[in-house]
Amino acid sequence: EGLPYPREEGQPVAKNKTWSSWKNSLQLRLTLGYALLIAVLLLLMNTYPLLMSQNLMFRSQQTALENQALLIANSLTTADSLTPETVEQALGPLDELDVQRLLITDEAGLVLYDSDQADSSAGRYALTGAVVSALEGNNAFFGRYDGGSFTSSAALPVMTRNTVVGAVCLFNEDASQGALLQQLQGNLRLISLVVCLAVLVLFAAFSNLLARRVGVLLGGIRRVRAGEYTHRVTMKGHDELVQLAEEFNQLTGRLQATEARRRRFVSDASHELKTPLASIRLLTDSILQDETIDRATTREFVGDIGQAADRLIHISESLLSLNRLDEGQTVGREPVAVNAQAEKLCRLLSPLAEEAGVRLETALEPDCVACCGEEDVNQILRNLIENAIKYNSPGGHVLVSTHCQGGQVVLEVADSGVGIPEEDLPRIFERFYRVDKARSRAAGGTGLGLSIVLDTVRLYDGDVTVQSTLGEGSCFTATLPAWTQEEGEA
Ligand code: ADP
Repeated sequence: EGLPYPREEGQPVAKNKTWSSWKNSLQLRLTLGYALLIAVLLLLMNTYPLLMSQNLMFRSQQTALENQALLIANSLTTADSLTPETVEQALGPLDELDVQRLLITDEAGLVLYDSDQADSSAGRYALTGAVVSALEGNNAFFGRYDGGSFTSSAALPVMTRNTVVGAVCLFNEDASQGALLQQLQGNLRLISLVVCLAVLVLFAAFSNLLARRVGVLLGGIRRVRAGEYTHRVTMKGHDELVQLAEEFNQLTGRLQATEARRRRFVSDASHELKTPLASIRLLTDSILQDETIDRATTREFVGDIGQAADRLIHISESLLSLNRLDEGQTVGREPVAVNAQAEKLCRLLSPLAEEAGVRLETALEPDCVACCGEEDVNQILRNLIENAIKYNSPGGHVLVSTHCQGGQVVLEVADSGVGIPEEDLPRIFERFYRVDKARSRAAGGTGLGLSIVLDTVRLYDGDVTVQSTLGEGSCFTATLPAWTQEEGEA
């Protein structure tokens, strides 16, 4: 049924992407999203570890300097006031210090000792921030990292009997730790670059794959939209896109079945309408062309034309009923006494039964009230009883029975007729399907009666089933919801 399309499975459809489609594409949004995420991650990776290491290094410097300064300050606490001599004396037994420069000042900030012999500031005032802070009785630490090395200074007060008598100030410059930090920075930059490149490559591959797969799906949708209902999307994997493709294929399958049904229906309907129209045409031509035609023949032909017109009316009425059912329109829900309907129909159809030599009987359980439209019950019973009479043999019988069961009204029409072959049973409810076309036509059938019955009961969530033995008879059972007290109150 599909159109003659060239196969192009697996190819993305949107090849000549315009800027505006690219601008709004999922791929661009994903790319931007990932790029932003990576930028933030790299920024964090390049700043946070460096700041942490800097901090750690300053702390280790601070402890080292403060410990040494404490040692010196403690060795100086014995003197009441500091002089260059007492300082020399106190420093004598101390080991070599692991600092670049040591300053010791008195309580006024005058340098008493300077370890830097070359550029000694002994005899001068050293009122740096650290010294001033120490002379005020506080421990002070200053650190700086200028890219190449760490410079740090720590100052501690020298206390004698709770009085500040001087200050110890240590300076250090650590180039090796600075170099270490710089190396770390360099390594982080390199890693960032490698990560960045790897992510870019991976992302490009991933987004390309995603775009291709979405393209396959999109291509499939477009082809089906263009009417190629036989097209199915094939996609490998187990992810959501595969599920989407499977759902789409199932949807297309249903669409294909519906389309096929629709086409068959239109062709069957046209065929059914054409037959009576053709006989009308033939009969009118015969009357018009034969100038010698007598009155009795003319009456006979006009009678036949009337029959063909009746048939057309019957078909169009059935089609209209089916259309109404397709749209899901109920004629409204009301309490319908199905027994009264069954009796009325049996009375109405008894001439037909008599003509066919068929005995029409009823077995009706009292107080069977269905909740549906009266016309719908009429439609169901009429079609089933008419069929039971039509597809019967002289001397046969038809039994129409009703009973209530589990909140449902059950309508049963059993006959001792020709029966239905097993292979035809699943198809008899299809529109225009007939087991014996000639017999159905001769009996005035349209092949729509049972589909109307099925669609009607389904409208009320009921069902219709059939049991049949070829040559012995059939029994059709239709169920409708029973009328309950609550519905009455509602
Ligand atoms: P039709 O207008 O031809 O009767 P239906 O839709 O009512 O169309 O029925 C479809 C076909 O099912 C009939 O053509 C007939 O072959 C078969 N059928 C229906 N009811 C019976 C029955 N009671 N006994 C035997 N065959 C039946």
